[in-house]
Amino acid sequence: VVTLIDHHVHGVVTGDLDRAEFEALLSEGGAAAVPAGASMFDSQLGFAVRRWCASVLDLEPFAAADEYLTRRSELGAAEITRRFLRAAEVGLWLVDTGYRPGQVTTPDELAAASGGPAREIVRLEAVAERVARLGMSGRGFAAAFETALAEAVASGAAGLKSIAAYRFGLDFDPSRPGPREIAEAAGRWLHAAAGARGGPVQSRLTDPVLLRYLIWCGLDTGLPLQFHCGFGDPDARLHRADPSLLHDFLAVTAYAGAPVVLLHCYPFHRQAGYLANVFPHVYADVGEALNHVGARSAAVLAEALELTPFHKMLYSSDAFGLPELHYLGAAGFRRDIEKVTSTFVADGVWSEADAARVIDLIGWQNAARVYQLSL
Ligand SMILES: [Zn+2]
Repeated sequence: VVTLIDHHVHGVVTGDLDRAEFEALLSEGGAAAVPAGASMFDSQLGFAVRRWCASVLDLEPFAAADEYLTRRSELGAAEITRRFLRAAEVGLWLVDTGYRPGQVTTPDELAAASGGPAREIVRLEAVAERVARLGMSGRGFAAAFETALAEAVASGAAGLKSIAAYRFGLDFDPSRPGPREIAEAAGRWLHAAAGARGGPVQSRLTDPVLLRYLIWCGLDTGLPLQFHCGFGDPDARLHRADPSLLHDFLAVTAYAGAPVVLLHCYPFHRQAGYLANVFPHVYADVGEALNHVGARSAAVLAEALELTPFHKMLYSSDAFGLPELHYLGAAGFRRDIEKVTSTFVADGVWSEADAARVIDLIGWQNAARVYQLSL
């Protein structure tokens, strides 16, 4: 079995799911994506679940959706999670804890259920929003944020993540903001968020000055900095999540000392491959897309491998919520990378030894090197 480090993944929902809840987790759009009378099982991902996941629940491949969900509720959430996470055979999980925490397993719970270790990826915006809820002046924000970030790094974060693509767009000003600019922006944010009553900060951080201040603080840590790119939930406006919008930022940070990791990228995986090709510190994955494009996943992986240097691509599942996705990501990647590279070998353009080496680079060795991990 190909060894894998899943360098971008989330937790699994801990409770039992009804049909609507299950189907909502089959779409990045959530419940709103499924019109009445229709089903998210009628999608590439829905078909992939019936094809590949049924046997993990002791059903025949292509089991009907109703039969699948009935079997799921017979087994219960804990058993389903245990089965899929173990069947994924992932050597190490890097868990993004910033999305819907409290509804999904923590990294420790994911590790316990899967039998493999997990480390945390810390979201910059989540740290800033936690700091803001403490209540402070705009001038006090930067010091408080930098202390909180240093604590998160010291407590073992394997990397950091920016969701600027969700909150503003990747077309942010690439320069590092100055202290006065940061204090003014923080003052506006904290004041608006606290509201007239002076209550706790509720609002999400969307200010572009602060978002890029967080990004620069992230780079200062030297840890790998992940960026959400491309396909995501409806908050991400796709035209502003194209990673090529980061070009000027990548040019000024090329020698800052921190790797930049472009997550997901689809349908801009070719743009991401170009950036990984020309900038020394840029890495990319097509995780998430591979699960969602189902029967077309080997084709998308092959496209991502057109320009991305083989030492720059990483494996991820981007699984969230359903343990099926943790399993499908891993099993699907193993099938696809084998299929794609064996075609190159059969065509006489790659050697078998090189194909085997590239599979290990993408499967785990690149992640181990970039995040300084050992298995
Ligand atoms: Zn994700």
